[in-house]
Amino acid sequence: MRRKFVAGNWKMNGNLAALAELDAIAKAIDARVDVAVAVPATLIHPAAERAGFPIGAEDVHAADSGAHTGCVSAPMIKEAGAAFSIVGHSERRQGQGESDADVKAKAEACRRHGLDAILCVGETLEQREAGEAEQVVTAQVRASLPDGADGGWLAIAYEPIWAIGTGKVATVADVEAMHAAIRSALVAALGTEQGGAIRLLYGGSVTADNAAGLLHAAEVDGALVGGASLTAAKFAPIIAAA
Ligand code: 13P
Repeated sequence: MRRKFVAGNWKMNGNLAALAELDAIAKAIDARVDVAVAVPATLIHPAAERAGFPIGAEDVHAADSGAHTGCVSAPMIKEAGAAFSIVGHSERRQGQGESDADVKAKAEACRRHGLDAILCVGETLEQREAGEAEQVVTAQVRASLPDGADGGWLAIAYEPIWAIGTGKVATVADVEAMHAAIRSALVAALGTEQGGAIRLLYGGSVTADNAAGLLHAAEVDGALVGGASLTAAKFAPIIAAA
């Protein structure tokens, strides 16, 4: 039985004062659901000291150290207190040109250093309208799946790019169809037991209003929440809906 998992992604938002939200988020957590929040690199250490639930990074470099100006490695985020990192978010795949191979290497860096990873995949609006969504997303899953993938440390977030930050949420039927396709790809790659243990999160304009329907859809094990994770007032009802 896969436990529900609600994760927040603060993106390039937040400051030290905003960490007070974490105190209120902690109060909203109950035993049925795993909750975690990914924050900007500068906030990992103070957030992890304060939160009492897992804090993560939003990205990580594949290498442990070296000449990579501006980047942060898995041992660095771990020392700062991170329990996990998001890898392959579309804002990095698109904005920073990250390939499936890059994303796979980043996830493997997490595993090497005992960090969990949330690996993101998702199609563009053009790909969906062309009827290519499932093929594009399952190809991303296969090509970015790290060695040693298993549900103990890896979750996959399906985030249709057209639904991120737009208020346009995917229908429950579309999410169920995509998650079933991702599950089949995982089972084909890893076998029934390991492929069946990896949690599948939905992300893209999740709010208190639509969370219950999405979180209880078939093959949906949780949510990756952007804007609505920034305040406890918006995030707590999503946790409660899980
Ligand atoms: P929104 O919830 O703001 O649409 O962001 C989703 C997302 O990208 C989470 O990683």
